[in-house]
Amino acid sequence: MDRNSAATLLEQMPDPKRTGSLMAAGRVSGLVARGDGNVGLVLDVADLTRAEAQALEIAIGERLRAGGFQSVRVIQTAERGAMPVGDAAVIPGVRHIIGVGAGKGGVGKSTIAAGLALALCRRGLKVGLLDGDIQGPSLHILLGVKERARATAEKRLIPMEAHELKMLGMGVMADPDKAVAWRGPMVAGAMLQMATVADWGELDILVIDLPPGTGDVHLSLAQKLKPSGALVVSTPQELARADARRAVAFFEQLMVPVLGVVMNMAGMAGPDGSTLYPFGRPEGELAPGAETLAELPLDPAVVEASDSGRPLADGPVAQGLDRVAEAVARKLRL
Ligand code: ADP
Repeated sequence: MDRNSAATLLEQMPDPKRTGSLMAAGRVSGLVARGDGNVGLVLDVADLTRAEAQALEIAIGERLRAGGFQSVRVIQTAERGAMPVGDAAVIPGVRHIIGVGAGKGGVGKSTIAAGLALALCRRGLKVGLLDGDIQGPSLHILLGVKERARATAEKRLIPMEAHELKMLGMGVMADPDKAVAWRGPMVAGAMLQMATVADWGELDILVIDLPPGTGDVHLSLAQKLKPSGALVVSTPQELARADARRAVAFFEQLMVPVLGVVMNMAGMAGPDGSTLYPFGRPEGELAPGAETLAELPLDPAVVEASDSGRPLADGPVAQGLDRVAEAVARKLRL
């Protein structure tokens, strides 16, 4: 019993109002399923009457239970963006949105968000990258973007073109220092503005680098942008793992499927060819159901590449990120 089997069951149910199945019509988002038979989803009921919404919720529960799931949790929402495309699509033309989070700062979250976006580009996908770390943006430095973003005549932000992908963040805004004194809701508002007011064009996937920890930006992402999933970055150190576990639980609570975990700084090559583990050994799964997609080594070449704004396209870290991109593409059917 996993997310795929739940999705397959929902794909067999025609939507009561829109064309196609419940999945194809964008009726369902935030689908999560656990090995123990629990399934949860968010049901968009904006165009249904109360009675229709209730009837649909009951029908979904019956179908999933008949398919072997033990408990089914449905959250009805009337919040709606533009017409859905694929699973996400509150931003017209953007098929999927994923968040990259971490329990604590300094584990390499931004490095991995940027590296993953580039690895998705290498797969031939159209990729956008949004720096959701409003108060500590760094993606513009990692990607070597020095110019500032401009707006169209209709006041839509134009994302920067960098290494085959499109990016936006406070680091490329006119007044990047302003946000430091902002409070939570304003910070979340800035992230949403950049995500939704920008002219991204057609994107297969928009990767959002979230601030460390759990907060307003994550809540806004989950509630307003209907993300297809999230990745959690950690190092093998127990201190980081404990916080990363909390991040996984937080995404699950928000009904954002956790696509997997990236273990960063998981070993480094020693001078005699042995492997050293300055942050501990990457042992075992971080949390039940949160699959480790890759273990990336600590590599001084990453630091140099980040500082020079020229992200690595090969070597062990880039290869690990290719595996993460492959898993993400497979899970989202890209
Ligand atoms: P976060 O976004 O979690 O705060 P960053 O992506 O800014 O973390 O990374 C923190 C520091 O660690 C940066 O100096 C970055 O260059 C470095 N770093 C990240 N991943 C690796 C790695 N695999 N090997 C070596 N250095 C890394």
